[in-house]
Amino acid sequence: MRPVADRDSAEWWARTAAGEFSVQRCDSCGTLRFPARAYCHRCRTRGWRWQPVAPAGRVESWIVSHQPFLPGATEPYVVVMVRLADAPECVMYGNWRGARPPAAGEPVRAHFTVVDDGLSLIDWAPAGEEGNGAGRGRGGEGPAGRGRDTEDRAG
Ligand SMILES: [Zn+2]
Repeated sequence: MRPVADRDSAEWWARTAAGEFSVQRCDSCGTLRFPARAYCHRCRTRGWRWQPVAPAGRVESWIVSHQPFLPGATEPYVVVMVRLADAPECVMYGNWRGARPPAAGEPVRAHFTVVDDGLSLIDWAPAGEEGNGAGRGRGGEGPAGRGRDTEDRAG
């Protein structure tokens, strides 16, 4: 299953394959947009450029699919919708790579999954859990076990 690149998104896929994480930026009003399209939805200007942004965001929602991609695959897979940290108007979808289910609002980082030379997919994993290995086992049962984030408190 290879994603289909159209005229507007082909270069985005090429940049993603090169390890760049970017969205479009309107030349006129500066609005950031994703997915790629020919003109700005705000001001209708056609001029734009690629703007590299932080490969980070927060989980907005997700779906769990129980239809396996491949014959014999039994595990459900999760697709998350992520609102980008640097481009709050943009959301991106990708496979969830966390060992546990996603939580609404949790910070995540993009994970480039190389499919082949010309194609990488952007998946999402919990921020700060990369490289930690499997030290803690499964952990976190039930909604009470939430809240280790110190980075932003309500208020
Ligand atoms: Zn614009």
